[in-house]
Amino acid sequence: MDRAPLGLQNWSGHVTFNASALVRPTTIAEVQEAVAGSEAVRVVGAGHSFNDIADTHGILLSLTDLDDGVSLDPSTRTVSFGAGMTYDALAPALHRAGWALPNMASLTPITVAGAVVTASHGSGDTLGNLATAVSGMEMVMADGNLRSFSRAEDGDVFDGLVVSLGALGVVTQLTLDVEPTYDLVQHVYADLPIESLAQEFDAVFGTGYSVSVFPTWQQPHAETVWVKQRLAAGRTSTAVPSALLGARLLEQHPAPLRAERQLTPFGVPGPWHERLPHFRFHDPNAVGNELQSEYYVSRDQAGQALSAVMSLGPVLAPVIDVSEIRTIRADQLWMSPAYARDVVGLHFSWLRDAAGVAAVLPTLEAALEPFEPVPHWGKLFVTEPGMIGRHYPRLADFRSLCRDLDPDAKFTNRFVRDLLEGSVR
Ligand SMILES: Cc1cc2nc3c(=O)[nH]c(=O)nc-3n(C[C@H](O)[C@H](O)[C@H](O)COP(=O)(O)OP(=O)(O)OC[C@H]3O[C@@H](n4cnc5c(N)ncnc54)[C@H](O)[C@@H]3O)c2cc1C
Repeated sequence: MDRAPLGLQNWSGHVTFNASALVRPTTIAEVQEAVAGSEAVRVVGAGHSFNDIADTHGILLSLTDLDDGVSLDPSTRTVSFGAGMTYDALAPALHRAGWALPNMASLTPITVAGAVVTASHGSGDTLGNLATAVSGMEMVMADGNLRSFSRAEDGDVFDGLVVSLGALGVVTQLTLDVEPTYDLVQHVYADLPIESLAQEFDAVFGTGYSVSVFPTWQQPHAETVWVKQRLAAGRTSTAVPSALLGARLLEQHPAPLRAERQLTPFGVPGPWHERLPHFRFHDPNAVGNELQSEYYVSRDQAGQALSAVMSLGPVLAPVIDVSEIRTIRADQLWMSPAYARDVVGLHFSWLRDAAGVAAVLPTLEAALEPFEPVPHWGKLFVTEPGMIGRHYPRLADFRSLCRDLDPDAKFTNRFVRDLLEGSVR
């Protein structure tokens, strides 16, 4: 097993890990050995989180050298695979075999395990976050033992285990629900008035299977709306309205975010894994040239929250690249921001100016405070840890789970301890 000293940084290059070594097990037995023999341990996935959630003062494990071991079971409509696997690797393999995932994030080089643990998500009124697809897991526990968990066998506790923030054990294998493969087509609309969006939120997000609205808050309108429509089996096109509450349908994407070649194709039907993500697979030009924050508010407060952010246009101006507004369906996962309520994600892609972003976040969070926002676990925020925990009704149960499964707090890092009010133990 390869063991290297660190100097490791996250994708955006503004977090340097404190861990003493990066260990790359090649077998589950080596994962067990590394966990059992360490006082403090965490896993790093693709390192795409914008904060120090993955860090530890002990050793960091990378599972990329583990066997992917993809195994499809059409009878249960599930796929199992090694937890070092990225969506980049999993999604095309699934599609080739005739299967699909219901939802994806905006990019694909992230590991499925890293996305699940932080409740990462795409957008869609009927779509839960990516963790809701998990129906089974294998984990190396703090004592080094390998345990299996499943939605069917473990019921409510399973809902506590999935969005774990990495605090419960090393996920070595995941099982996800799959469905027959399907096609989508995406269209882009320009200049949607924010006021219309605030008033007719459901109408806008009901336009497609997956809808994202992109404002920069510097104009009274959102610059673009991306509508991803799912095609019925055998269909190659779908009816597309030529206007959306004043926004006009464009023939081509105006590419305000990135160079056009990096976006997944618009106007042309294609398979789910090449349309649900915004960015193309294996993009060789992808670099960590941005920072990100995201806050979730209850869907029924979306209109008011949008107005509150809109009033901050000049404050955001020095550091905003673009925002993305998405919808996420309610779930039952204890530490999911969508626990028991439909939520709206207010995402902010910032220029790579850590000091500038840090200066803006308190004002942004204060403006959102009336809507009791919770931040994305893997992005930048400054909210007091106790304030976040207060919005999670199952926090006490999650603390108990941490204590039961990891009595010596081997997997608890600064982030987890602070986040759970500094009193996880
Ligand atoms: C350009 C960009 C676009 C993004 N787009 C989206 C988006 O569309 N939607 C969204 O919700 N988020 C998005 N994110 C955030 C991203 O999805 C999360 O930060 C995600 O956690 C990153 O996955 P990762 O593999 O890099 O995990 P890491 O950042 O490496 O780790 C995240 C957490 O998972 C834990 N972990 C990883 N693997 C394991 C394992 N096997 N066992 C136990 N714990 C584990 C780590 O310890 C850590 O706590 C984006 C990030 C970037 C950089």
